[in-house]
Order: sequence, then structure tokens, then C-alpha cells
Amino acid sequence: MACIFCRIIAKEIPAEFLFENDCAIAILDVNPIHYGHALVIPKNHHKDFLEVPEKELAGIMHAVHVVSRALVKSFELKGFNFFSNNGAIAGQSVFHFHIHITPRYEGDNIRFVLQLKRYEGDDMKDVASKIRAAILE
Ligand code: 5GP
Ligand code: ZN
Repeated sequence: MACIFCRIIAKEIPAEFLFENDCAIAILDVNPIHYGHALVIPKNHHKDFLEVPEKELAGIMHAVHVVSRALVKSFELKGFNFFSNNGAIAGQSVFHFHIHITPRYEGDNIRFVLQLKRYEGDDMKDVASKIRAAILE
């Protein structure tokens, strides 16, 4: 079994476990953005979000909710982010779906560097139509 997260779930390699339910585990990320940065990982191997069966989603989000609440309580946070990288181009490095949860602090200067676009003409309508059509397919 090559997948590092499958090996953690199988207890073949150690991790700091925070929480577990039927669908998911939560552990500390070994290279945290801030102390407490956690990963919620489904127990079944799915390479990315689109591969996760619908019946596992509620359990995964339940774990995100429980761990977020515990981070806010234990570190007296004013805010936190949760996010997921899907695909190498989006920064995914472990191809077993997971959700990051990280504390945020005043002035920590963590941000996506964004260059925001503006929709021109009918582009916004066209883009929405394309997505709606894909949802109906
Ligand atoms: P990704 O880059 O795929 O969104 O996130 C993968 C995360 O897994 C990284 O933040 C990385 O630090 C973490 N990670 C990789 N290998 C291990 C490991 O063996 N143990 C733990 N606890 N975290 C890991
Ligand atoms: Zn895996």
C-alpha cells in the first residue's frame, strides 16, 4: 500500500489522531501552516473530491465541523480556514482526498495571491449557462 494516508489509517505509520467517525479520521498535518493545522481524511481511498461517494460526504463534513469547533475552543481562535487542493495544478500533493483546517491569526499574511478578473459583455451569462448545462447532464 503506497498511499501515505491509507498507511496512517491502517496504523502502519504514526500520526497524531484528533478524531474519528465512521467515514473519516482527523490528524495533525506534519508541516503545519500554524500549530493545530489538521487534516480530515476519509477512511476509504478516493483520489480527489469528485471520487468521494455522496454517502460519505456528511461524515467527512461532520469531522470537519467537530475539529473546527475544537480548534476554535482550544486556541481561542477568531477565525480559521478549511480548504482542499484537488489536482496537482491546484497544489494537491497527496492523492487521497483530504480537507485542511488551519487556525488564522491577525497579521499572519497568509493569502491566495489573486488577480481578479471582470466578466465582459455576456460572458457571465454564458459561463453560468455552461455550468448549469453540465449540472443537468
Ligand atoms: P495537499 O498538498 O495534498 O493538499 O496536502 C497534503 C498534506 O499532507 C500536506 O500539508 C503535508 O504536510 C501533509 N502530509 C504529508 N505527509 C504526511 C504524513 O506522513 N503525516 C502527516 N501527518 N501529514 C502529512
Ligand atoms: Zn489512500
